[in-house]
Amino acid sequence: MRGLKLKYYPYTLELKNVFTIASYSRSTTPVILTEIEYEGYTGFGEASMPPYLGESHSSVIEFLSKVDLTGYNNVFDLETILTEVDEIAPGNTAAKASIDIALHDLTGKMMNQPLCNIWGLNDANTPYTSFTIGIDSPDRIKEKVDEAMEYKILKVKLGKNNDKEIIETIRTITRKPIIVDVNQGWDDREQALDMVYWLKAHNVKLVEQPFSKDRLKDTAWLTKWSPLPIIADESIKRLEDVIKSKDVFSGINIKLMKCTGLREAYKMILLAKAIGLKVMLGCMTETSCSISAASHLSPLVDFADLDGALLIKNDVFEGTKIINGKVTLSGLPGIGVKKLGEPGK
Ligand code: MG
Repeated sequence: MRGLKLKYYPYTLELKNVFTIASYSRSTTPVILTEIEYEGYTGFGEASMPPYLGESHSSVIEFLSKVDLTGYNNVFDLETILTEVDEIAPGNTAAKASIDIALHDLTGKMMNQPLCNIWGLNDANTPYTSFTIGIDSPDRIKEKVDEAMEYKILKVKLGKNNDKEIIETIRTITRKPIIVDVNQGWDDREQALDMVYWLKAHNVKLVEQPFSKDRLKDTAWLTKWSPLPIIADESIKRLEDVIKSKDVFSGINIKLMKCTGLREAYKMILLAKAIGLKVMLGCMTETSCSISAASHLSPLVDFADLDGALLIKNDVFEGTKIINGKVTLSGLPGIGVKKLGEPGK
């Protein structure tokens, strides 16, 4: 595709609150914003690199410097292009997602249709998203829950040593459904099962990643006896991991930055549903670029956790919004975003 141009530049997301989970705290997230220009159209993409996944500004720039899209003659042949981008090097899933998202945006714009229409999905069928409450002091948790009144489902980070205190604090304010993310923070499986029963009695709807990612036998045991769905996050990344989750977890949390983007995410959703796994669509802290991209798949999933752009101060896109807690697409073609200003230029 002569005339096709790939551009990219680093950017740093500033988080509204210091974000604490079971294993660490941080207040920024590095991202790379990509643009692919072709025949007067521009597709936008993004790589978001929370540190625990091992990618960084420099690793993504190094990967993208090896991507040459000029040799293809059909811009709509995403299957071939993205397979070959994937083969450039192992890993680098966020870098790959930044190409995947930009090409989906570009081709959607060339067809003048939102991606959900191209995929045959109804944008009225988008789910409510959960809104994340990080680990914090009881007073600060109360404030955060108040600030989250608009959202129908809270996502609460557990896995330190005050799980019950956190849930009880929230329950002094609201009875709304909660999903919990343990981020590998539990150790003992009997205690975990007791805790899951306790959580169910407190209107918790699911438990994400209770044990460290390689403890699949203990996880399978917990899933077998648990009254709540047990969802894989850190234990799974890509399409090949979906089959391994059967009989270990009740469902999987798919994130564009883990799975190389929309094309693979779509395949993972179909496979997971076919083998009886529930599907959650999650995110990192990201701009509205990647959140909007993921939102086009959201009519297919059981649970959405697409609050990443709500947690940052310096978004550079406007697209899918969360309105009264519901994932609400913009109706614009491609991933459906407008860029706000020219950061990095
Ligand atoms: Mg998680």
